[in-house]
Amino acid sequence: MKLGILGGGQLGRMLALAGYPLGLTTTVLEPSAGCSAAAVCSHIHGELEDYQALYELAKVSEIVTFEFENVPVQSAQWLAERVPVFPPPRALEVSQERLAEKEFFSSLGIPTPPFAAVETATDFRTALREIGLPSVLKTRRFGYDGKGQAVIRTPQDAEVAWQRLGGRPLILEGFVPFDRELSLIAVRSRDGQIACYPLIENTHIDGILHRSIAPAGDTGEELTERAMDFAARILTELDYVGVLCIEFFQEGPRLLANEMAPRVHNSGHWTIEGAFTSQFENHLRAVCGWPLGRTDTIGCSVMYNFIGDLPDPSVVLAHREAHLHLYGKSARPGRKVGHVTLQVGDRDELVARLPEWDRSFQRLPL
Ligand code: AMP
Repeated sequence: MKLGILGGGQLGRMLALAGYPLGLTTTVLEPSAGCSAAAVCSHIHGELEDYQALYELAKVSEIVTFEFENVPVQSAQWLAERVPVFPPPRALEVSQERLAEKEFFSSLGIPTPPFAAVETATDFRTALREIGLPSVLKTRRFGYDGKGQAVIRTPQDAEVAWQRLGGRPLILEGFVPFDRELSLIAVRSRDGQIACYPLIENTHIDGILHRSIAPAGDTGEELTERAMDFAARILTELDYVGVLCIEFFQEGPRLLANEMAPRVHNSGHWTIEGAFTSQFENHLRAVCGWPLGRTDTIGCSVMYNFIGDLPDPSVVLAHREAHLHLYGKSARPGRKVGHVTLQVGDRDELVARLPEWDRSFQRLPL
């Protein structure tokens, strides 16, 4: 099977690697020369809105998917008229715009933080009155890894946030004093089968994922089932095919959806070693129209991102439980250059080892 991927970052690289033993031939379309995926598959060097480049990708692909949620919807739609594209371009449309996304969750009965649309200074004042403080002002588009957002705790913060972000479509959200952040990775096959990995517990630093623990502790059956039910509603409504990640805030017994990513996700990298079938393989199985693989875990895993600086492999691998993944990227502040997954037999062992690993792989705030 010949697979085309829009985007050639590390997610594209890990998809291509997972496709190799399945006999897939992968081509990525990506503007940056020497991108992470290009080392392991074919690379068409072009912009994602360059129709000549899109045409070239369609010519060498039997199926097209994407590894980046800011793929222009029109490019995905144009390709979908020529070759099957999964997940459906509508999933891109919903997840690219924070207001549309929160309205979509609400329309499916999925709880979210309180939110209000903001375009003008008057909307902003009304929204602040309605939502109250603390709150978070976010750009509706192109926000990721905590970019394009400002936490507002005081009226002065509101002024500063408006100076910085005002003038484009925004959303104001209530600041959730969450107990923890969780994510759920789900996959739906072309014939509508759904499988979910267990809930994952995530820690962010400066809005960027630092650590994921899987399975998350103390979730209980009810919380897990609720998250899976929310995922099933989204996947079914979108007639989705492939892997989808939903990020939640847990506040006491409440589970609030923050956002979704219509692609394989950083909080699922542990599945490469820590689950029967990795998220990458399951995404490929789904988009190729093949049966899904088991999503249960093998022991317990913790993943740490390497951000900004390349680690010394001999130091990382001195941890005998470590699986190191480097993405072939050069170091740059804030850039994800690799990750490590540490895997142990059970939760007690994970809890016992966590302080040591947290120290070894700590990341200082920017
Ligand atoms: P996002 O880009 O929406 O995923 O936000 C990045 C990170 O900022 C999240 O993972 C949270 O840690 C934090 N954050 C975003 N929105 C909120 C909110 N409404 N309340 C509290 N924390 C938030």
